[in-house]
Amino acid sequence: MVAKVCPTCKEEKPPSEFYKDKEHEAGLSWQCKVCASKRHKECNKQPEIAERRRRVSRAFYREYPERQVKASAVWRKKNPLQYWASASLAGHKRKGFEVNLNSKELAEIIKNTKTCNICGIDLEFGSRSKLSMDSPTVDRIDNGKKITKDSVWLLCHRCNTTKLDRSLDEFVEYCKMVVDKFGEEAGLL
Ligand SMILES: [Zn+2]
Ligand SMILES: [Zn+2]
Repeated sequence: MVAKVCPTCKEEKPPSEFYKDKEHEAGLSWQCKVCASKRHKECNKQPEIAERRRRVSRAFYREYPERQVKASAVWRKKNPLQYWASASLAGHKRKGFEVNLNSKELAEIIKNTKTCNICGIDLEFGSRSKLSMDSPTVDRIDNGKKITKDSVWLLCHRCNTTKLDRSLDEFVEYCKMVVDKFGEEAGLL
């Protein structure tokens, strides 16, 4: 197949750089993939268009539920951190927390956190269904109701269950108490 010029960016590109579209010449979309996705993103900024697209896609997946399953599996595989983040935020919402953080922002925090913020153990972002002591968890640093990008950090499951419902200050107080009581014996004092 021959290369085609995209009328938007005026670049000549191979057919693989155009989406398939039976209604257009040579079965290719009129714009190149880059320009088409730019246009798509621009359009989605208009709430009516975004809403109409959501409606069409919901109707499509109602008709072909197996495609929905496949599409979400593909998305999960491509965006494992964001998937983990959205599942975790959904859990916090269910528990009645005020969530002012989206899954993309939480995924960003996850990307920049390799180890537990308290004990320093490596965090493994695998499946959320098998929770082990080293599993990452989202902790509300000061144990408030609001989830924002500054109110949470990541802890391993063990540290999070140890801190539990304490604020960081209360937890440090608690640790001091343990050291006061048992530190001498352990050679810490
Ligand atoms: Zn183009
Ligand atoms: Zn830890």
